[in-house]
Amino acid sequence: MTHADHDLSSILDECAQEAQKLIGQGHVADYIPALARINPDQFGMAVCGVDGTEFTVGQSDTSFSIQSISKVFTLALALQSPGAASVWERVGREPSGNAFNSLVQLESERGLPRNPFINAGAIVVTDVITSHFVSPVLQILSLVRKYANCDDIYIDEEVADSEEESGHRNAAIAHLLKSQGNLVADVDDTLAAYYRQCSIAMTCRDVARAFLPLAAAGQHPLTGQTLMPALRAKRINSLLLTCGLYDGVGNFAYRVGIPAKSGVGGGIAAVIPGHYSICVWSPELDELGNSLAGTRALEVFSHETNLSVF
Ligand code: GLN
Repeated sequence: MTHADHDLSSILDECAQEAQKLIGQGHVADYIPALARINPDQFGMAVCGVDGTEFTVGQSDTSFSIQSISKVFTLALALQSPGAASVWERVGREPSGNAFNSLVQLESERGLPRNPFINAGAIVVTDVITSHFVSPVLQILSLVRKYANCDDIYIDEEVADSEEESGHRNAAIAHLLKSQGNLVADVDDTLAAYYRQCSIAMTCRDVARAFLPLAAAGQHPLTGQTLMPALRAKRINSLLLTCGLYDGVGNFAYRVGIPAKSGVGGGIAAVIPGHYSICVWSPELDELGNSLAGTRALEVFSHETNLSVF
């Protein structure tokens, strides 16, 4: 049986019901006050079809902090920037097996981050953007708005300021990268852009729409635009599958079987190439920093629709 045999609305209701059973078992991110005070009892999910259809459940129109989901947008931007040729010389494409903000591997591997979705790799990607554009943050925001087909997407400056104030570990990563010769722009400029990309606020509906080009071989079904070559969409999806959930990526692939990217705001964006892009959001995280209820919702979705990349 395939998704075509199902009514996705009732499947989404089931995802929400199953996910909600886990609320109370995780912990919201508490490294900054703006995230620590989020009501944990929230859940939303949006699914966009490559044919333009949309299905939602729960708080799919509530804005949340996209955090590391932004790393997918900055990678897309860096790969179309004048610095594109340097990206894969400066960042690897292997799973890290380490926490997203680890410094240990960076030191032992002499400043070459394992992949673009751990903080070290994402900071290098943001550095490519910062060193090639006069207004890197505006470039990032305008790419996100174009992908989401929504001009209202904004940066939550309160979140950005507290990211900056409490960003000692990211600052340590950036300085280590600089000392190892893998940061071109001024450390503070690259970090300022990185904190702002993490602080973009979006709804599940926005994020699902913004991931549609990855589900539709680089085309945007809602605008008719070509946003990236099909080969690049395939490659980004491959990186999501192998690196999108930090050191939880193997278990996520086992349970869900869909390329995805998580953020500590509790969002997870997922791509079923040729079919759907999905965003699920619930703020409580597991011990690796991935949304607990969100992971469960995606697991139920892939079981019930029989859709995955396998
Ligand atoms: N702002 C967070 C950080 O840089 C983002 C990490 C995440 O979402 N995993 O630590």
